[in-house]
Amino acid sequence: MPKYYIWTIGCQMNKAESERLGAFFEQAGYHSTTAAAEADLIVLNSCVVRQSAENRVVNKLNNLKAMKKLHPDKTIALTGCYVNSDTDSLRKKFPHVDFFFKPGARPHWLNNAGWEQVLPLDVSPAVYLPINQGCDNFCSYCIVPYRRGRERSRTVAELVNEVNELVRRGAKEVTLLGQNVDSYGHDLPGRPDLADLLYELNGINGLSRLRFLTNHPKDMSDRLIEAVALLDKVCEQISLPVQSGDNGILELMRRGYTVEHYRRLIDEIRSRIPGVALSTDIIVGFPSESEEQFRRTYDLLSELRFDTVHVAAYSPREGTIAAREMEDNIPPLEKKRRLNMVEQLQENIATEINSRLLGDTVEILVEGRKKGKWQGRTRSDKLVFFSDNENHHGTLVNVKIEKTSPWSLQGRLV
Ligand code: SAH
Ligand code: SF4
Repeated sequence: MPKYYIWTIGCQMNKAESERLGAFFEQAGYHSTTAAAEADLIVLNSCVVRQSAENRVVNKLNNLKAMKKLHPDKTIALTGCYVNSDTDSLRKKFPHVDFFFKPGARPHWLNNAGWEQVLPLDVSPAVYLPINQGCDNFCSYCIVPYRRGRERSRTVAELVNEVNELVRRGAKEVTLLGQNVDSYGHDLPGRPDLADLLYELNGINGLSRLRFLTNHPKDMSDRLIEAVALLDKVCEQISLPVQSGDNGILELMRRGYTVEHYRRLIDEIRSRIPGVALSTDIIVGFPSESEEQFRRTYDLLSELRFDTVHVAAYSPREGTIAAREMEDNIPPLEKKRRLNMVEQLQENIATEINSRLLGDTVEILVEGRKKGKWQGRTRSDKLVFFSDNENHHGTLVNVKIEKTSPWSLQGRLV
């Protein structure tokens, strides 16, 4: 029996696509292995959102050169956002790679019958489900639209079927994925939106929880906030990247909103959805970002107090508007200083937010075991660990919180 190995880095979309690729290879007669050396088919699912990710991909590719020389019969394929339209140059640069296919595309060298319906065979209790592909926004720093193309939504009917099937295979929680979930459906007949989709999915028997990411502050609607507030299965958790707390930088980023708009949106979400957990993304050291402008981001984070902040140092991406038109003029050490400041601030905020959960009883969906403990997440997406000898995999349990940290909680079963 031939074996496949998939290496994945990057966003949740890549993880979801790798799961689907795995299911497809199984259907095509392959078995999975976690060792590249044992595999007949090696697939790298790549990310190029920042230079650091791209470097890891190139290293991994180069490391496979020797293996291909020794075993020319092994198939090596590259997918994900490293793959651009210029496959000729890719082929020249990596002659040991047999196939290149775009993110979300099919492995064209295999028999592709039934590709559209392929779902992971081994469904975990919490699964990802891509609902729309690509992005039409062209934020000035971002390479995603160049690699994933224009927005394409999957139909409501198709997604309802798929969630039914995932639930039949054991899923309890589904996280809907898109680069901008707020533009879901605008390209479909009748223009359904994410709220419509949530109303449909909320009615599925056996499904316990729904989440979605990522929202875009310029597109998130009141109707969506209302749906989250009303629908019992939709978790109290919103991911809303602000990127910067300064209007000048937001304009250079071409984000299409102001800090004032963002603040009003957060107020609205918090007043309509009690107990909502919020996360955001920040880029520090964007071209020309002054100390004062950075301070505005820092102050906004102190003011709004997110549960989670993903912070990255600006990394110029070839072909983007920012890389073409703006000088990358914040020195690396200064970017690092700003990044550390945000991380330290957020650690303090998360320590405080989480410590308030001490003594509370929370419902968690048990996703698996780690270091001898069961682990799962609350509806607000907090990671919780507890010890117990019974099998709790895939069940909803109540846990009383006894210990907290900025990153996770520990408790005991009640
Ligand atoms: N669609 C989402 C995120 C896509 S990329 C959104 O609109 O926010 C994921 C995150 O990577 C972004 O939120 C941003 O913070 C970061 N990112 C994207 N391009 C980057 C770049 N060139 N340099 C540094 N960080 C970047
Ligand atoms: Fe990139 Fe902006 Fe699209 Fe997000 S919305 S994927 S940051 S272009």
